[in-house]
This record gives sequence, structure tokens and C-alpha cells, in this order.
Amino acid sequence: MPILYIVPTPIGNLEDITLRALRILREVKLIADEDTRTSRVLLQHYDIATPMTSYHEHNKLSKLDAIFDALAGGDVALISDAGTPGISDPGWELIQAALAAGIDVVALPGACAAITALVASGLPTDGFVFLGFPPRKPGELRAFLEAAARDPRTLILYESPYRLVETLRAACAAFGDDRPACVGRELTKLHEEYTRAPLADALAYYESHTPRGEVVLLIGGAPPAAPSVWDEARVRSALRARLDAGARLADAAKQIAAESGWERKTIYRMGLEEG
Ligand code: SAM
Repeated sequence: MPILYIVPTPIGNLEDITLRALRILREVKLIADEDTRTSRVLLQHYDIATPMTSYHEHNKLSKLDAIFDALAGGDVALISDAGTPGISDPGWELIQAALAAGIDVVALPGACAAITALVASGLPTDGFVFLGFPPRKPGELRAFLEAAARDPRTLILYESPYRLVETLRAACAAFGDDRPACVGRELTKLHEEYTRAPLADALAYYESHTPRGEVVLLIGGAPPAAPSVWDEARVRSALRARLDAGARLADAAKQIAAESGWERKTIYRMGLEEG
């Protein structure tokens, strides 16, 4: 039974590839890759001579039959230019079609810029959302960020260095200047840099230091909303309204306690005082 292997490759440092990934890339019948010129550098570095075929954004549907033909004769490995195939890279359509055709799909763990940046960011890792590349048009970008602004989980975005400043500016408007953030740039490479700062400070930094290379933007999740506590006049007026409407004091006190942040027995005592 042939297997379609999903094989992550380094996001910069050529050492970031597993022993198993190297063995699979040597053993499969064919490597489907996003850009054969980019992959050749990696494969030559590790002395791997497996035949390659291109599988990229523009032929990801027309190429399915050719890859299935190859799978009829042996295992195939899918790789992308960098990192994990299928993560903001071609792969999903092939994986879906392979599963639908009853072909085994085996994914190897490995490099992914989103996870690398998340772990080093210092932002909470217990819940996070990967949002990929945000939209480019200003109105769509604003709506996209506003929809994410109340999410309590850490947000991970990929962005082009040419658009980072504009996206940080839009993020300040949507999330507030003080929301914790982190920009991971050129991860695993010579000029790796993390800027861990509130959004407005990250914006100020990149306004004066033109970002170069590849970037991941992480934004801390929304803090829990502070419970609203009513003032005394509001509690007394709500109590009066409920009692005037015929509610029992015990029931009214219980309901208002649930809404107001006040203790039930304090509200009950107010009711007794008011007679
Ligand atoms: N499949 C890849 C992965 O698993 O991370 C992502 C491919 S996507 C086309 C390329 C984007 O990933 C870049 O624009 C950047 O946002 C991010 N990225 C990839 N390598 C990176 C690196 N070394 N440092 C920072 N970001 C990187």
C-alpha cells in the first residue's frame, strides 16, 4: 500500500530536519515539491538524488493525477519551499484527494515558523489560533483584525516584511496600543530577531527599523472582561422595580445579585430596610 508522506523541511537553518525526514526523502519514489530549484539546495546538501516533480499553487489541482500515477508505483513525499507543507503552503488539496482515494497519508513532525515563533514569544501557548496571511485590502484587514480582537487565545499571523508596519498600525487600532505582541523575524537564520513588546512599541520599532526577511506576528489574546459591578443607586432602583412588579424579595435579591456583582444578602437587607 503506497504512502503519501508530508515532510517538513527547514525554515532557514539546514540542520533543522529530522533523521527520519532525510531517510524518507531518500527512500521514496518521487518527491513532489513547491520549487525544485529551492529544494535542490537542501537535497544536494544531504546527497539525496530522488527524482522530483513540481507541485505548487498554480498546478496543485492539475498535478493530482500525475502524483496519483506515481503513488500507484511507490511512496511519494510532499515538501514545500520551507517548513510544513499545507501550512500557508500547497498540500491540503493533495492530502484531501489522497485520503478520499484511500491512500495512506503520513505526516512527519518538523519545522514550522508559526510554532517556532509561538514558543519563543513568551505569549501564552495553552491556546492559540493560526490565522495565516491577513488580507491586504485595508477594509478587509480591519474587519479581519476586529473579528479576532476579542479572542482570548494567542493569535499567530504570517506577514510580508513589506506589509508588517501597515498591519501593526491596523492591529493597534483593532486591539489597542497596549496589547502584548511579538514579531519573530528571520527565525533560525543568521539575523534571527524577536521583538517582544506591546503593539504600539513594536510598530514604533519597525517604523524606524525597516523589517527585512521573513516575519511572524503574534498578538496576545484578549484579557478576560472585568465583571461589571453596579453602583448602589442602580441596585436599589432594580430592586424597587422588581418588588413593584410583584416579585418576592428573596427572588428579586437572587436575580439582581447574579446581574450586579453585589451579594444576595446585602440586596435582601436593602429590601428589608426599604420596607
Ligand atoms: N509552510 C511554512 C511553515 O510551516 O511555516 C510557511 C510558508 S509561508 C508561504 C511563508 C511565511 O512563513 C513567511 O512569509 C513568514 O511569514 C513565515 N516564515 C517562514 N519561514 C520563516 C522564518 N525563517 N522566519 C520568520 N517567518 C518565517
